[in-house]
Amino acid sequence: MMPEDAADIVVVGGGPAGLGAATLLARAGCDVLLLERETEAGGVPRHCGHPPFGMREFGRVLAGPRYAARLVQAARAAGVRMATQHSVLGWDEPSMLRVATPSGPRRIAARRILLATGTRETTRAARLVPGLRPVGIMNTGALQAFACLEHRAPFRRPVIVGSELVALSAILTCRKLGIRPVAMIEESPRPMTPPLLALFPRLMGVPFHPDSRITDIAGKGRVSSVSLSQADGSVCTVDCDGVVFSGRFTPEASLARALGLALDPGTGGPEVDDDGRTSDPQVFAAGNLLRPVETAGHCWQEGRRIAERMLEDLRAGGPEAGRDAVPVQAGKGLRWVMPQKVLPGRAGAMTGVQLRLAEHGRGWAEVMQNGQLILRRRVSGTPETRITLPLTANRLAPTGAIQISFRGQ
Ligand SMILES: Cc1cc2nc3c(=O)[nH]c(=O)nc-3n(C[C@H](O)[C@H](O)[C@H](O)COP(=O)(O)OP(=O)(O)OC[C@H]3O[C@@H](n4cnc5c(N)ncnc54)[C@H](O)[C@@H]3O)c2cc1C
Repeated sequence: MMPEDAADIVVVGGGPAGLGAATLLARAGCDVLLLERETEAGGVPRHCGHPPFGMREFGRVLAGPRYAARLVQAARAAGVRMATQHSVLGWDEPSMLRVATPSGPRRIAARRILLATGTRETTRAARLVPGLRPVGIMNTGALQAFACLEHRAPFRRPVIVGSELVALSAILTCRKLGIRPVAMIEESPRPMTPPLLALFPRLMGVPFHPDSRITDIAGKGRVSSVSLSQADGSVCTVDCDGVVFSGRFTPEASLARALGLALDPGTGGPEVDDDGRTSDPQVFAAGNLLRPVETAGHCWQEGRRIAERMLEDLRAGGPEAGRDAVPVQAGKGLRWVMPQKVLPGRAGAMTGVQLRLAEHGRGWAEVMQNGQLILRRRVSGTPETRITLPLTANRLAPTGAIQISFRGQ
């Protein structure tokens, strides 16, 4: 017979979202068990040896590992039971999780489950980048682990693929290790960061190659060069000894899929209502699992807001009666919207609808319901710019899908 455990609430994932939620729930008197597959909780910040983390949570700027340690400390002090090296694999029956632990498989029962499993970067293979497979090719996450956990440089002259905020984080990490990136390569004609931050690579002495893609990686043993095809059809070679594929985050939704939850094709994460409730009313989700990708402070706060709703839900003994959510749909010009459902007539855990543009652009985001325009907001940015529309619930009709679209100008 497999050993069993039980808790009011099981939180899966010990990053900022999971830790923020678990701490709030434990302080409110719940028995909370947090399961984390790594040897320590803390999530991505544990591997990011640079600031800025912690302004929202602790009112000061911290480097990632210090920030992660403080979140863990707060959770322990609140009474959260923390189980590391516990990977949740799925469930045997509703609310009975199947977990791999150092002492073998275990079953854990929960009245409510919060999934906070974060995101992962798209690998070289998933980006369909051709060429050889020499040593020196990795994601930013692996580079951070080399820097923060092993304190060693995996290369000296890498190219960085991508230009979103995490690519800038890769430059900072490289500098800390004495590594000099030789190029930043972006498929889009413009950087993915806001204009001011777009200057950062050049200020750091890293040449920026827009409208370019890697068509070959060469090297015997270790990477020796990459070939770049450029917008004008020309191909150039960049000598380097490593390639960092940064960003293009996708929610770590393997567990959500294994639990049979409905997934949103736009975000790649589970579909949720504005309280963070998934298609299974006992299971909630928070943090970057919901969408790629937000800051740690945002995820922490989101985890706490959703935890408040879980608490109400638990106290009420189940989902409120008569809660008819209306769908929120991403229309023309948008990659995704989140949440994918809202409950009109009340304020949800989420303060608005988040969205991302399909392309760089400037124009209007328009919200329609039952043929009526209910909100129009000026928006601009890159496909990575974080945009939130303050969709107040009392403006919404109780029925009729909400369509959000972008009209460029
Ligand atoms: C390179 C990089 C640099 C960044 N720099 C900054 C910065 O300077 N400032 C900032 O505010 N934000 C930064 N961020 C973003 C920030 O790290 C994330 O927003 C934040 O960590 C998201 O929190 P989360 O709890 O949603 O997920 P995560 O931090 O990803 O945590 C998810 C946790 O779930 C665990 N997990 C996953 N699946 C399972 C499973 N099946 N069973 C058990 N455990 C599981 C994982 O091991 C992980 O610990 C950066 C991100 C990256 C990648």
